[in-house]
Amino acid sequence: MKRNEPTTQKPRTQGLSTLAIHGGAEPIDPGSPVVQPIVQSVNFVQEFGTAEGLRYGRYGNSPNAETIQRRIALLEGAEAGLVLASGMGATACALLALLRPGDHLLASSWIYGGTHRLFTQEFVSMGIDVTLVDPGESRGWRKRIRKQTRVIFLESPVNPTCRVIDLASVRYLTKENGLALVVDSTFASPINFRPIEHGADVVIHSATKFLNGHHDVLSGVVLGTASYIEEVRQKMIVWGQAPDPFACWLLERGLKTLDVRVRRQNENAMRIAGWAEERKEFKRVHYPGLASHPDHELAKSHLDGFGGMLALELAGGGKAADRFIRKLKLCTHAASLGGVDTLISEPRYSSHAHLSSDERAKIGIPDGFLRFSIGIEDPDDLIADLTQALG
Ligand code: PLP
Repeated sequence: MKRNEPTTQKPRTQGLSTLAIHGGAEPIDPGSPVVQPIVQSVNFVQEFGTAEGLRYGRYGNSPNAETIQRRIALLEGAEAGLVLASGMGATACALLALLRPGDHLLASSWIYGGTHRLFTQEFVSMGIDVTLVDPGESRGWRKRIRKQTRVIFLESPVNPTCRVIDLASVRYLTKENGLALVVDSTFASPINFRPIEHGADVVIHSATKFLNGHHDVLSGVVLGTASYIEEVRQKMIVWGQAPDPFACWLLERGLKTLDVRVRRQNENAMRIAGWAEERKEFKRVHYPGLASHPDHELAKSHLDGFGGMLALELAGGGKAADRFIRKLKLCTHAASLGGVDTLISEPRYSSHAHLSSDERAKIGIPDGFLRFSIGIEDPDDLIADLTQALG
């Protein structure tokens, strides 16, 4: 992406639920299958005398990949999209297309652990300077912009505290300084939040999460202008990050129910957050839909739904968490998120295992902190499961 190249939002012609099913599909003739078949081929017959239209699995232009690329771009209001083998592959290629050795990346410190490692270990070893900013610090972003800064990267809502970051003020800075604003919108999905509508230049998802929604596909997407996406595709080709056609097919199938799944997850999470607030066993409930959440007002204006992610802090700390998790029957103890089954995980044994108990407490993730990815089960059954586990 060239400096100051504007990213304009593409107006939506249909509702999100319609686009999630039909967006970007090729017209079908009578007799064709209703469901796009899996084209399980790496190689495609090439025209003579030209390199135009060359298809190869690793180039990200297999028919199953192309359909979902068009579809997710329509959902996000982006000019173009690219599907990759994982969310990490998407983040790496998205930023490698923007940064060169000597450039400076300004990133939120409230980011997924894998992204943190990518920036502070891999990028730094490649000669890219990285500064982490606490988004809660007043004027924190502005103070750290340098001549060499090219990109501001942030994640919102944030894993695992569900904090919501105000894009308006960051966007003002990126426009003023000719920087690219890159947003990991995995926690929201385009049903709840579309960052391009708020001035982001690039959107990233771990499609492993809400976009697929069934805990059976590893994949990622990058959205932006057509010329920028072409640059990301070139990175994907040489770093070998293209997705498999079957993963694309499963992702397309998952996308069809994105709208109903996410709305149900929003409703279920709101019910559970409200229930948890009334229980004395929980010291704190982190859910942007609650008036007690520090970003509730911002979430109301930014988000179309408060999301399926929430966190509960058990008053009894780590020991209480051990007892509670062992007793759960419906909620499954597993990492990852965004699927139809409710999952529970403890950052102290997953994303934040590399920190000491005190270090975690300092960043708002004390022992006893439980992260929930709420699924689409009957909310009464989920609450019954949580209640019996507290007993
Ligand atoms: N971004 C966020 C916010 C995540 O939570 C994750 C994984 O948990 C990733 C990116 C990386 O995605 P993947 O596991 O698909 O590589």
